[in-house]
Amino acid sequence: MQKKHNKPRPYGRHLPDRYGYFGEFGGKFVPETLMHALEELEVELNRALRDKKFLSQFDYYLQEYAGRPTPLYFAGRLTEKLGGARIYLKREDLAHTGAHKINNTLGQALLAKKMKKARLIAETGAGQHGVATATVAAMFGFTCDIYMGTEDIKRQALNVYRMKLLGARVIPVDSGSRTLKDATNEAIRDWVTNVRNTHYVLGSVVGPHPYPFMVREFQSVIGKEAKSQILKSEKRLPDFLIACVGGGSNSIGLFHPFFKDKKVKFVGVEAAGRGLHSNKHAATLIEGEIGVLHGSKSYLLQNKNGQVNIAHSISAGLDYPGVGPEHSYYKKIKRARYLAVTDRDALRGFRLLSEYEGIIPALEPAHAIYYVSKLAPKLKKNKIIILCLSGRGDKDIDIVREHIKL
Ligand SMILES: *Cc1c(COP(=O)(O)O)cnc(C)c1O
Repeated sequence: MQKKHNKPRPYGRHLPDRYGYFGEFGGKFVPETLMHALEELEVELNRALRDKKFLSQFDYYLQEYAGRPTPLYFAGRLTEKLGGARIYLKREDLAHTGAHKINNTLGQALLAKKMKKARLIAETGAGQHGVATATVAAMFGFTCDIYMGTEDIKRQALNVYRMKLLGARVIPVDSGSRTLKDATNEAIRDWVTNVRNTHYVLGSVVGPHPYPFMVREFQSVIGKEAKSQILKSEKRLPDFLIACVGGGSNSIGLFHPFFKDKKVKFVGVEAAGRGLHSNKHAATLIEGEIGVLHGSKSYLLQNKNGQVNIAHSISAGLDYPGVGPEHSYYKKIKRARYLAVTDRDALRGFRLLSEYEGIIPALEPAHAIYYVSKLAPKLKKNKIIILCLSGRGDKDIDIVREHIKL
């Protein structure tokens, strides 16, 4: 029987529709040569997400290898200091390799194994996604090439060395702004050429369909755990979920399982860099316009001629001119609110958590911590905030040392 093609249907857990759209955002804007690879991936993914064996394997590695579930920690001293809402931290910093990225790379590596690919490639900015990909490549026995801008290679020497220790090759990208955007271009180019034996492990909820959907499904473990943990400790849902937004994967991972819980407010925190009027920021949802980047339609930072602007943030992980299409949709339907925090205030958030909780955060979630420090005092003491602590701060110590003299 012929099926009509003009009525896209949701996958089940609402969006994206089967063409990969979240409202008007998303889709598959790629060269013909990649269409087949994306379709193959989509078929395999949809099969895997319904396959009990795949899901229990994924669970197994999340638990036994990545150390899940991560704790939902009540930040008592921070709560007391701020004097308002009760603050909980979802401790993704305690996952193996030090950030939430491992959730996604484990899922994609298992899928690549199912597809009988021998090689993984990835792009990386701060190096966290590169490290997480190199890690699963070592554990499952894939060869692994990581694309990284030469500017980022300079800024993140520690992670470059970690990737090499894990047996990956780090391929320097010297074009454009020499950062994440350019590394992504090169990784896509590699995939076009080597698609038969290679799986491209994208690191966030960006790129062409089915990537934003796939990465969300793999990262949703964050929100699913947080939901059952808060129901256990507080016997109710939280009032606010707050997370930093680079490409948007740790935030979507936390938000998505609460999508239908209308009373739970979502706040995404972007990087305002040196200030929103400085042109040196990464506040894509706040200051960007709708366009196409890396295969999908979403908000992005671009100039009047449609050229993609260079993003800036003190945290390499937020330093990206695009954002996942599902966030653009949440913004449009007002399901989430987005705001931005500067480099300077992120450093304040960084110190606050270090000094009041004994947890040195990554610079990315430090943006969200600063916002929480402004929000919590305005709320009643019976309100509950869950903040996604997406990663730990070891990788950022050299950068922080340049700014904070002790
Ligand atoms: C990569 C990274 C981010 C930004 O990526 P999202 O896809 O927006 O989550 C945030 N925090 C940490 C610690 C990261 O490594």
